[in-house]
Amino acid sequence: MSDHSTASTSPVVMTVQGPIPYERLGITDAHNHVWIDPIPGADPGSPVLNQFDLILAELVEFRDRGGGCILDCQPGACGRDGNKLLQLSKASGVNIVACTGFHRKKYYAPDYWLWQANAGKVYDFLCSELEQGLVETLDTPSPVRAGFIKVALEAAWADCPLAALEGAAQAARKTGAVVEIHTEKGALAERACIYFADMGVAPHQLVLCHMDKRSDSGLHQALARFGVLLEYDTFYRPKYHPEANLWPLLEQMVACGYSDRIALATDMAEAELYHSIGVGLGLASLPGEIREKLQAKGIPDAAQKQLLGTNIARRLAGLH
Ligand SMILES: [Zn+2]
Repeated sequence: MSDHSTASTSPVVMTVQGPIPYERLGITDAHNHVWIDPIPGADPGSPVLNQFDLILAELVEFRDRGGGCILDCQPGACGRDGNKLLQLSKASGVNIVACTGFHRKKYYAPDYWLWQANAGKVYDFLCSELEQGLVETLDTPSPVRAGFIKVALEAAWADCPLAALEGAAQAARKTGAVVEIHTEKGALAERACIYFADMGVAPHQLVLCHMDKRSDSGLHQALARFGVLLEYDTFYRPKYHPEANLWPLLEQMVACGYSDRIALATDMAEAELYHSIGVGLGLASLPGEIREKLQAKGIPDAAQKQLLGTNIARRLAGLH
């Protein structure tokens, strides 16, 4: 497929089907989940997304409503299956970007090696998934490479896996990869910026996730000036009151000139947010209802494009 040619000199994003020029990603969900296997021994409340045909149907809908690409934020050993991501991408025509890294400890079997490993071992593992391929795809005819690093913070710094964070920072510095940082409702966002900056990771490599759960616009503007990307995703999470929090924050940030510092997403790890499986609006809501609402609120077209894809695509490709 010419879409996945490497001949272009344009900066590229590493998708599960290979590198593609960043301008071709189109509307991109900056944080979502399209496959999560059940994990024996993990927290019994951990989400599971493994109904292939229903997920595929929903990806096709995403594409038909104008969607182009989805970042899958489930790292290895807590439900990721890079081979399924590749099959889903090929069958739907939606580009998927897979991640390496680690999620919160509760989503793993208790004996997962990474929690006991030193930073060097974590660094080696993340670099190999970025440069060679996801571990579960290495002995297949088409190994799938990770396109970014996902890490997860807890609510308090003392509870975070510090050796794993150090290995992730070293891998980001070496490879230039983006680090998507799960925050517990925005907690430790400032601390994470200082930590990664001290470790030599550039602000444009950092994406702070779920920041609209902490909708303090002064904080968001300071983080935006620092240079990180802020990911908002509570559109369909009534308990976070998106009409009172997310939407006014988003409009204010755009009005203040920060439309190049925000990426929109829907983070549908829970199957009930899918409409083919559950009762939600599903994957197609980003190119559908959310885009329509941006339009209705008078967000300029250029800003809409940034929020809905260009910002995350440029950063995945190593651009500011
Ligand atoms: Zn997520």
